[in-house]
Amino acid sequence: MSTDLKNLIGLDRQELAREMDAIGEKPFRAKQLWHWIYHQGETDFSKMTTLAKSFRSKLAEHYSLERPQVSRELTSTDRARKWLLKFDDANEAESVFIPEDDRGALCISSQVGCTLTCAFCHTGTQKLVRNLTAREIVSQLMVARDSYSEWPSGRDDRLLTNIVMMGMGEPLFNFDNVAKALKIVMDGDGLSISKRRITLSTAGVVPMMERCGEELGVNLAVSLHACTDELRDVLVPINRKHPVRELLAACRAYPGANNARRITFEYAMLKGVNDSDADAHELIRLVRDVPAKFNLIPFNPWPGTAYECSTPKTIRRFAKILNDGGLSAPVRLPRGRDIMAACGQLKSDSERARRQSTRPDKPSGDTAPAVA
Ligand code: SAH
Repeated sequence: MSTDLKNLIGLDRQELAREMDAIGEKPFRAKQLWHWIYHQGETDFSKMTTLAKSFRSKLAEHYSLERPQVSRELTSTDRARKWLLKFDDANEAESVFIPEDDRGALCISSQVGCTLTCAFCHTGTQKLVRNLTAREIVSQLMVARDSYSEWPSGRDDRLLTNIVMMGMGEPLFNFDNVAKALKIVMDGDGLSISKRRITLSTAGVVPMMERCGEELGVNLAVSLHACTDELRDVLVPINRKHPVRELLAACRAYPGANNARRITFEYAMLKGVNDSDADAHELIRLVRDVPAKFNLIPFNPWPGTAYECSTPKTIRRFAKILNDGGLSAPVRLPRGRDIMAACGQLKSDSERARRQSTRPDKPSGDTAPAVA
C-alpha cells in the first residue's frame, strides 16, 4: 500500500486541530475538514469544494484519507455482505453487513484474532495477532458506506443504520481504541450513528463494563451461553476469571440499563450441551433482577467443530419457556452462513488458508460454497 502520507482517519477532533496547526492552518479548518471526511465521506482533497484551493493542495501534500484495502468482498444469497480488509501491515480482519428491509447492522471487528478461545467460536481458534487501531475500526464503517454509496452520512434512505461490535475480537480488551473509534462514529457532524443504535458485545470482561457504560453509553450485549459456572468455564473460558455471579452483578450495575433499554444476553444453541428445559428455567432465575432480554443464536458450524446446532423444535421450546418466564427471546435468523459471515464464523482468510494447509478440514454440511 501507499506512501508516507499521514492518514487522517481515526484522529479525534483535537488531534485533527493539531495537524492543522502543524501545517500552519487555523484550528477552525479542522471543523471543515471533519465534515468532509466523516459527513461527506470524501477521499479526494481536491474535491472538497468549500475549501480554498491552496488549502486543498496543502492537504494532499501531507495527508491521505485512504481506506484499507478490500481483499475480498462477498455477498450472501440472503444479501449479507462480508469484507475482508487488509491493513497497512498486511494483517486482516472481517466486517459483515446484515441488511433488513428498512435498516441494517454492520458487525465490526475490534481485534485481529482473539484471545478468548471460546470453545464453539471459529475466531477463537485464531490466535490474537493485535488490537485494531481507532482508524482501522472507523474505517470498517467507511468501507461499508463506500460500498453502498451511502454518503453523505445521515441520509433518510440509508440502510446502514446500526452498528454491532460483534466481529472478531473482544472489544473490552481493546477499550481505548474502541472508545476513540465509537466517539468518532457517534459525532453528530460526521458518521452520526447514535449510541442507541450501537451495541457492544462482551464475553464478560467485568472490570471494563462500567467504564463502557459511563463513557460510551452504548447498548450492551453479553455472551452468556451457559447458566452454570461449570459449563461456562468450558464454553467461555474467561468465566474462570469472572464467574457468572460477578458478571450478572456488573450487568445489574451497567450504567443506562433499564427496562426500556435492556441488556441482551446472547445464547448460542448447542445440541445436548446447553439447550435443556432445565437450562431455560435456570436462566429465568439467574436474570430475574436484571433488565434482560435474550437473543437465541442457532449455533453456526465451522470446519473442525465438534458442536452441533440444537434442533428447530428444541430452540422453539427453549424460547417458549423464556417467553413464559417474561423474557423476550427472539431466535436470530442465521445470516450469511454461505459466506462464513455468521456469528462465530469470522476468521481472516490468510489465517484460514495457512491452517488448512496443515490441517485439511472440510467445511461441514450446511456451509455452501461462497458466492461472489
Ligand atoms: N468477544 C465478544 C464479541 C464477539 S460477538 C463476545 O464474545 O461477545 C460474537 C457473538 O457470536 C458472541 O456472542 C459469540 O459467543 C457468538 N458466537 C461465537 N461463535 C458462534 C457460533 N459458532 N455460533 C453462534 N454464535 C457464536
